[in-house]
Amino acid sequence: MAWRGVIEEYRERIELDAGVEAITLLEGNTPLIEAPRLAATIGFDGRIFLKYEGLNPTCSFKDRGMTVALSAAVARGAKAVICASTGNTSAAAAAYAARAGIRAFVIVPEGNIALGKLSQAVMHGARVLAVRGNFDDAFRVVTGVAEQAQVTVVNSINPLRIQGQKTAAFEVCDVLGRAPDYHFLPVGNAGNITAYWLGYKEYEADGVSDRLPKMMGFQAAGAAPIVIGQQVDDPQTIASAIRIGNPVSWKGAAAARDESGGIIDSVTDRQIIEAYQQLAACEGVFAEPASAASIAGIKKAVSESRVEPGSTAVCTLTGHGLKDPTNAIEVCPEPTKIGPSVEEALQAMGLD
Ligand SMILES: *Cc1c(COP(=O)(O)O)cnc(C)c1O
Repeated sequence: MAWRGVIEEYRERIELDAGVEAITLLEGNTPLIEAPRLAATIGFDGRIFLKYEGLNPTCSFKDRGMTVALSAAVARGAKAVICASTGNTSAAAAAYAARAGIRAFVIVPEGNIALGKLSQAVMHGARVLAVRGNFDDAFRVVTGVAEQAQVTVVNSINPLRIQGQKTAAFEVCDVLGRAPDYHFLPVGNAGNITAYWLGYKEYEADGVSDRLPKMMGFQAAGAAPIVIGQQVDDPQTIASAIRIGNPVSWKGAAAARDESGGIIDSVTDRQIIEAYQQLAACEGVFAEPASAASIAGIKKAVSESRVEPGSTAVCTLTGHGLKDPTNAIEVCPEPTKIGPSVEEALQAMGLD
């Protein structure tokens, strides 16, 4: 049977009023790709699987939560939604609002949103406001506006986002037949780690999986409030999707770490960029810089012997690499310029 989107596929497990019509772009059902070359490269004697969330309709995992948040909002008569966003939430909100035929307002940090994400928000007809400030400032504006205007907030303080996002954990188990031993993922606002943990716990409680994974979350070193245990006022990282100083789901992330016996650690921008290129070059999978924090994370954890040999690990790749072409072009060598000649081509190729 054809895939129906995460609400219809998992409706009995999602806390959504009965009979709510799904606003869907058929999100979910993303591939779980085994990455043996990556495992060998980082010296891991076990199995690594990539949950490639870049293959959702707007090219990030945000679609899973947005389908649920928008469906509920429309069922309650909402005419407009609003969100603060480092980019992917706004792309998803704009697309699902367009699908529903309602308005979307998105508030982004000026100058700190990747080109692909901005192009999605504007193409889907959202009203985009660029705040002189960072994500945390944008989020404060959103909550203030929502107190005074008839708009539904679709940031991850909206618990329906988490309900939708937990379906990624179900999909992982549905493919592997059980939960993995470790689940690595980037942590920004920490909604996703909270959601995966919820999903894994539900499947384990119902006997669908015989185990729970250790949750292994990674923040960028310049934006690692959960790691250092205090809010970061001026978060900095090349990975704009996790450039967050005061995570909305901080408590959920800490609970996921503590209950699962996992960790929340940080990786440097240099480690993120190295993992970003390595993943694309050695497995043919292109993910955006923030996503590569999960790969940098497993590399670090393996090097510190924090991952049992022979175990199975899943790394979530939260968004597609094409979201952020600017960073990709910047970290790679420029194309070699040649004249229209076979000799010059062979010489440049090193095959002459
Ligand atoms: C939103 C996002 C994150 C961070 O997810 P949280 O739920 O905020 O922790 C990471 N990577 C990408 C690509 C994202 O869009």
